[in-house]
Order: sequence, then C-alpha cells, then structure tokens
Amino acid sequence: MPNNKVATKIIFGNWKMNPLTLKEAEKLFSLVAKNVSQIKNTDKKMEIVICPPFIYLEALSKIRTSKIKLGAQDAFPGDVGAFTGEVSGEMLSGLGAKYVILGHSEKRAGGETNNEVNKKIKSALAAGLRPVLCMGEGVRDPEHNYFNFVKTELEECLNGLNKNLISKVIIAYEPIWAISSTQNRKDATPADCLEMVIFIRKILSDKFRDVAGGVRIVYGGSVNEKDAGDFLQKGGVDGLLVGKASLDAKKFVEIIKICATLNK
Ligand code: PEP
Repeated sequence: MPNNKVATKIIFGNWKMNPLTLKEAEKLFSLVAKNVSQIKNTDKKMEIVICPPFIYLEALSKIRTSKIKLGAQDAFPGDVGAFTGEVSGEMLSGLGAKYVILGHSEKRAGGETNNEVNKKIKSALAAGLRPVLCMGEGVRDPEHNYFNFVKTELEECLNGLNKNLISKVIIAYEPIWAISSTQNRKDATPADCLEMVIFIRKILSDKFRDVAGGVRIVYGGSVNEKDAGDFLQKGGVDGLLVGKASLDAKKFVEIIKICATLNK
C-alpha cells in the first residue's frame, strides 16, 4: 500500500440536536474558540471542525476564529427544489459550512440506505463540501461477519467516485455499539479501531490505488479526554469524531490539546 498518508489531523465535534438555544450554541462555540486560540500547533498541522444543527450555522459563522471550521450534519442531494424539510449542500456551503457529516448511524436508523448516502456524498462534493462518511457495524459477531458488512457499506457509499474526489472524503469509522447514545454500549479499544482502519485502508487501496493513502480516516464512538490520546496514537487514525464530549467545552478543548501535543 503506498504511504502517501496526509499528516493533517482533524478533530470533529458533532453536536447532534444540541444545544437547545442559539444563545447556548454561541456561548459554547465562543468558549471553545477562545481556548483553542491559546493552544499551540493548532494552525497548520490540524483542523478543528464543529458541526452544529443547521439553524445555528449562520450565527456561528460570524463568530471570529481562524482555527475552527464549520460543518453540517446532513445535506440533501441536489441544490434547490420541492423537497419539504430538506436542506441542500449548496445552501450549507453558502452559510459557511466546509464539511458535512453523511450516513450517520442515527440517520441510518431512520431508514437511510447506502445508496442514498452515496447520492448525498456526490452532491455534497459538487457543492464544494467535504463529506464525512460515517460507517461502522452494529455488532461484532463471533463469526466476524462485520467485516463483510463494513466492506459492503464502504463500497456502496463510495460507488462511482473517482480518484480525484475520493481524497476529499473523510471516513469516520463509528462502530454503532460504541456510540454514546447506543443502549448497553461497550467501549471500543484502539486495537478494535486499528484492525478496522487497516481493513478499510485495504478496501480503499484496492478501489482507488495510489490515492487511497491520502484519505483521512477518523474514529468516533464515545471518545473523551481520557482515551483520545490512545485512539490517536494506537488506533491508526487521522483524527476523531467526538459527539457527547464536544458539548462540554472543557472536555472538547482537552481533546484538541492532546491532538495538538501529539502533533508537535
Ligand atoms: C457520534 O455519534 O458521531 C459520536 C461520535 O457520538 P459519541 O461521541 O457521543 O459516541
């Protein structure tokens, strides 16, 4: 496998449907921005992206920070049209979003298919957004069928993408059994993560050859300030997707600090 892996680490905060008010959103964002501005090594070597609910994007884009980018949590394929309740990538791009989370397990639980995620990825790319493809198995069965599940999910979601586009996609390996909102969840280990990252890299390299090494893979699933360093150092990933802990400015900034320190 060619080793042209990009060095820039990336930390995402997925706020999901939080917080309740714009005032709280602005407060949380400003607090993170203020603290991050004091951390060294966050400029060129790492990216920080906060993905709030759609309705907060515009207000947050007006808060001055050179270190934090904005992302959205979904984008409907297409640009405009008769699609009640939907928001397109073009619209999000216009509001200042640079990234968009797609295929999150909480959306898939509502019936979203790989084929739909594939359409969303292509449309988001056309709108100039970087898609963050969330994927991962619901269970780790003793027969290891979860590898086939992950392979199919990855191949179907990336179907039809060419070599030029794949490097713009971020893969977020998020085993559903480790996500904080999953009932009876279990902790994933950096070793669980590494095993899957190697597997995902092999699939990418079979499909996209020499450019596959440039695709960033991040881990998500109850990451906190205590295990972030381990996942970054031993999980084989280029960053983290943080859900619950990103709603706590102190914890999220600590995770960023850990990443920046490892990045020195
Ligand atoms: C997520 O659902 O994207 C996620 C990473 O959540 P959490 O960190 O809360 O498990």
